Amino acid sequence: MESDKKKEKVTYSKRIRYLRRLILTTVAAACLIPTCICVILAVRYDRLNVRYEQAKANLDWYRERYGSETDILASGDETLPDDSDAVPPAAEEMDIDYATVDVSGAQNPEDIEGTRYVYLTFDDGPSTYTDEILDILAQYDVKATFFVCGKASNKYTDAYKRIVEEGHTLGMHSYSHKYSDIYSSLDSFKADLDKLRIFLYETTGVWSRYYRFPGGSSNTVTKVDISELINCLDESEVTYFDWNVSAGDDKSGANKDRIYNNIVNNVPRFKHCIILMHDAADKKSTVDALPEIIEAIQAMDDTVIVPITDDTLPVQHISN
Ligand SMILES: [Zn+2]
Repeated sequence: MESDKKKEKVTYSKRIRYLRRLILTTVAAACLIPTCICVILAVRYDRLNVRYEQAKANLDWYRERYGSETDILASGDETLPDDSDAVPPAAEEMDIDYATVDVSGAQNPEDIEGTRYVYLTFDDGPSTYTDEILDILAQYDVKATFFVCGKASNKYTDAYKRIVEEGHTLGMHSYSHKYSDIYSSLDSFKADLDKLRIFLYETTGVWSRYYRFPGGSSNTVTKVDISELINCLDESEVTYFDWNVSAGDDKSGANKDRIYNNIVNNVPRFKHCIILMHDAADKKSTVDALPEIIEAIQAMDDTVIVPITDDTLPVQHISN
């Protein structure tokens, strides 16, 4: 009898404890859930605001240049006027008169007159070295071109944004960089291209117009005729750029000195010089060599380092 009463008491206090825990959990959840929702909404609001400001800036820029949207529609032509030097504000602004760029492609130094234009291009980024590369470029007040891939991890979001914010050109180098995938069919090439383009637009607000084929346009991997892929880029109003000088930083045995020599010895051969380098976790030597490479190019007579723009004559290994 006594033990039955005891048992009942124990069960009763267990129930009380359970109810107390239940109440506490409910109260905690009632406080935490709205707080979490508020934080998530605040972050989303902030992101949307950034995109809104970017879109507004673009719209203002177009309005200033082409009149209001009603003016454009009233003209009966929904396409914007053909104005090849038109670059939306998200892209770079340089104090260089591109109309005067002579891109004759002369390779004999004797033939070279006027300014030599040198384009530093970095493939495969962003990487753990992107910030360091951007710091060096900022230190020398040099603008470059980054042919990036699609890396959705949050840790690279700032790198994509910084490339754009600091006035460099954002080019595309395929989303996946998987040769077996992108070169397997025209459809997969196009799907990869669109995926990267939209990803970059959502991340930075820039609708990229420049492409570098993984392996270059002369790659022997593609199962599709390269001219079909080039047509696909043309239809998407994307220009592709190969290179005429390579750092050789993707070759085995590449070190700082070799990379420096590969570039600095070859730049004088070209009047219009597109240099291939890499922005990748295993290419520290490129970063180490970069300051001296920039100094050497800047010391060359009548030579400037500029980013790729709509006015840049592309170097193309294979042309359509
Ligand atoms: Zn690559």
